[in-house]
Amino acid sequence: MSEFSLLKTQCYIDGQFVIADDKKTFEVIDPASNQVICHVPDMGINETRKAIEAAAIAQKKWQQVTPKEKAQILRRWHDLIMSNQEELAQILSLEQGKPITESRGEIAYGASFIEWFAEEAKRIYGDVLPQDKTNHRLLVIKQPIGVVAAITPWNFPNAMITRKAAPALAAGCAIVIKPAAETPLSALALAELAHQAGIPAGLFNVITSTDAVGVGKEMTTNKLVRKVTFTGSTRVGKILMEQSASTVKKLALELGGNAPSIIFDDADLDNAVDNAIASKFRNSGQTCVCTNRIYVQSGIYDQFVEKFSQKVAQFKVGSANEPGVNLGPLISQSAVQKIEEHIQNAIDNGAEIVLGGQRHDLGGTYFQPTVLKNVTQSMRVAKEETFAPLAPIFKFDSEEEAVAMANDTEFGLASYLYTQDISRLWRVAEQLEYGIVGINEGLISNEIAPFGGIKESGLGREGSKYGLEEFLEMKYLCWKV
Ligand code: ADP
Repeated sequence: MSEFSLLKTQCYIDGQFVIADDKKTFEVIDPASNQVICHVPDMGINETRKAIEAAAIAQKKWQQVTPKEKAQILRRWHDLIMSNQEELAQILSLEQGKPITESRGEIAYGASFIEWFAEEAKRIYGDVLPQDKTNHRLLVIKQPIGVVAAITPWNFPNAMITRKAAPALAAGCAIVIKPAAETPLSALALAELAHQAGIPAGLFNVITSTDAVGVGKEMTTNKLVRKVTFTGSTRVGKILMEQSASTVKKLALELGGNAPSIIFDDADLDNAVDNAIASKFRNSGQTCVCTNRIYVQSGIYDQFVEKFSQKVAQFKVGSANEPGVNLGPLISQSAVQKIEEHIQNAIDNGAEIVLGGQRHDLGGTYFQPTVLKNVTQSMRVAKEETFAPLAPIFKFDSEEEAVAMANDTEFGLASYLYTQDISRLWRVAEQLEYGIVGINEGLISNEIAPFGGIKESGLGREGSKYGLEEFLEMKYLCWKV
């Protein structure tokens, strides 16, 4: 893999590329071919602790650096990422499997957070309050929270890191990151570019490990860490929340979703079909804002199923660099088993396969894009995130019924609705118990808007002007003059 200068096989701690204390490594696998790409260090609790200690020292100096200088360094990191977009995209597709066009998009999307927060670094304001007594002056200043620990998933190996690291660094924090063991290479490539950009040693650290439990425990219990930021499953989010209680750390959790797309009779049908497809099948269905349930009103149900399936039938499944590929492999065999179980459970309970339904002829973890109709709320697809290219299409009659079905879940990340009726649009958008509502639009994520969920989909928001606040503490100064 020497053709990639950014393919690093050592971790990055305190400004140095290093191996594990006990020299242990683990394999990084290409999900498209099931071949070993390379080995990276299998670090553990000791190295995590060292990284946290280095981060604590570096953070104290970093908080003294002027916002303008912080902004310039972050901007350099952004520019280096964009000038290496193609290589970063290739590394991303190699370890994750998504089509190269999606990887290029992720690199640009990931970099956009660095650009945004480089700019926001200069706009951290305090406040002067009215006094309670004539000889009092009351002020509020904002200060960095301190050392941040981040645990990130495999579905966006680049952007889930930049979305956390950029606001952390802009706020004056230091960060220690454990990427998913499936996709460590994008994280290490970002470290190399952070190094080249002149981000001071100790501020940005990457630990690769197969011991997620041990590293996670250290990150959530080490007193030097003041904030834990996590993107991943609700199951693991709850563990981290519980562990963080012992030292009362601030938490940001971006957890699972179970996104509904509601399509009303009065929707622009072609737009609804195109956007529901875009939202459903991005990254082969492996994103937490991917539509998991499609609710279509009875008047257009048959027409929608037909148009939707015709378009999906044209999808090309294959490896990242094959021309025209829309769907890559799934990340693992367990992901394939999950979609198979969801399909079987739906069929057993009366659903019908319109398209797909099987493993793909390409073998490995490739799966056919699948459409199911006559799906009901009692099936597993209604309750659990499939995280795969399965589009279950439910039927509803009234608006009230659609809202009730859409909200009938413990999750609350993204939702989508399609209608031309502006009164309904507003009414339904307000009633959806979700952190994000796409209106006649299936692609909602950008650096400008607050991304995050309610209910068991998580805590906190990433991106946007609100995202910076997550890494700042408010300090009240009561001054007797
Ligand atoms: P997914 O099912 O999408 O892989 P996970 O929540 O299992 O989601 O993984 C997301 C991230 O959380 C990965 O970096 C993984 O290594 C990490 N992780 C898994 N289990 C734990 C744990 N017990 N403590 C801390 N991190 C964990």
